[in-house]
Amino acid sequence: MKNEQIVLAQRPEGLPGDETFRYEDTEIKKPDNDEVLIESVYISVDPYMRGRMNDTKSYSKPFEIDEPLNGHVVGKIVESNHENFSEGDVVTGGLPWKKFNTVSSDAVNKVPSTEVPLHLYLSTLGMPGHTAYGGLLEIGKPEEGETVVVSAASGAVGSVVGQIAKIKGAKVVGIAGGDEKVNYLTETLGFDEGIDYKKDNFSEKLAEAVPDGIDVYFENVGGPISDEVFNHLNTFARVPVCGAISSYNSKEDNGPRVQQKLIKSQALMQGFLVAQFQDNAKNASEQLAKWVQEGKIKSEVTIAEGFDQLPEAFRNLFTGDNFGKQVVKVSNSLD
Ligand code: NDP
Repeated sequence: MKNEQIVLAQRPEGLPGDETFRYEDTEIKKPDNDEVLIESVYISVDPYMRGRMNDTKSYSKPFEIDEPLNGHVVGKIVESNHENFSEGDVVTGGLPWKKFNTVSSDAVNKVPSTEVPLHLYLSTLGMPGHTAYGGLLEIGKPEEGETVVVSAASGAVGSVVGQIAKIKGAKVVGIAGGDEKVNYLTETLGFDEGIDYKKDNFSEKLAEAVPDGIDVYFENVGGPISDEVFNHLNTFARVPVCGAISSYNSKEDNGPRVQQKLIKSQALMQGFLVAQFQDNAKNASEQLAKWVQEGKIKSEVTIAEGFDQLPEAFRNLFTGDNFGKQVVKVSNSLD
C-alpha cells in the first residue's frame, strides 16, 4: 500500500491556486497501542479551511506550511489496536489530507449507521447539518408563519437551514447563484421562493419575495447580498451569522454595512461556531437522521473522484461550481 498526502506549500493570496498545495509520498505508520489505521474514503472540503490557510489568529489554528491540510473525513478502519474498533468499521473525524492516517482511537467515531450514503456524514449528518440545526434553532428561532431568508441556500449548510425552517412552518426564501440551483430550491427542497443573486433584478425579486419583511436571516455570505437583505429586516429580526464566504479570498472588509439597519430594526445579530452547540449534538444527530429517513430533509452532493482532485474541489466552493455538499472520493473500498 502506498500513502500520499497534500501539504500547504505556501499561503495563498486570493483564491488558492495549484502553488498553494504540494503532493508528497509518505509512509504508512503501523498503529501502536490504542491507535487505528484508517483509509480515507470521502474527504470533505469546507469554506472555513480557507481561513486556516492564512497566518492569522482565529478560532482554529492556521495550517502550518509543509504540513498536511486537515479536514473532515469518512474512512474505513484497516487495522485496529483498540478494542472499540475492528477492521472494516466506518468512522468519521478530522484527519490530515492523507490516503491513510494512523491516529489515536479517540480522534474518530464510528458512524451511527451505514444504511445511509456515507458522504452524508460530511454534510447533513455531519458538521454542516449541525451548523444549520444549532444556528437556526438556537439563534434564529423561527416561528410558524415567519419569513426566513438563507444565503448560499443550495449548499451544505443553507439547504438544511431552509428545510428545517419549512419543517417549523416558516416561509422560506433561498438565495443562490444560477437557474439550476434556484430551481432546485423550490422544486426539490420545497422552499417557497428561490432568488438568483447573479441576476440584475436581484433587488426587486428579493423585495417581491418578502412582502412581510424578514424575521430570520441566516447569513452565509456577507457582502452586497447581505446589504440588500438587511434592508428588509423586521423589528426584532434574528440574524445568525454563520459565514461570510464572499470575503474569504479578499483582504478588504466586504460588509455588510449593518449598523444603522440593526438600530432601525432592533434586530439581533449573533455570530456563532458550530462547536458551541456541542452539548446538544446527540439530539441534533438523532433529529437530523430522523428527518433524512422520513425524506423531510433532502440533499445534493458533488463528488469529485480522486485524491488529486482535492485542490480543485476546494476552489469550487468559492466559484460556486459545487452543487450541494462538495466532497472528494479518494477510495472505492466502501463501495
Ligand atoms: P456551500 O456548500 O454552501 O458552498 C459554498 C457556496 O457559497 C458556493 O456553492 C456558492 O454558491 C456560495 N458562494 C461562494 N462565493 C460566493 C460569493 N462571493 N457570494 C455569494 N455566494 C458565494 O458551503 P457550506 O454550506 O459548507 O458553508 C456555507 C457557509 O457556512 C460558509 O460561509 C461557511 O464558512 C459557513 N460555515 C460556518 C460554520 C460555523 O461554525 N460558523 C460551520 C460551517 C460552515 P452559489 O453558487 O449559490 O454562489
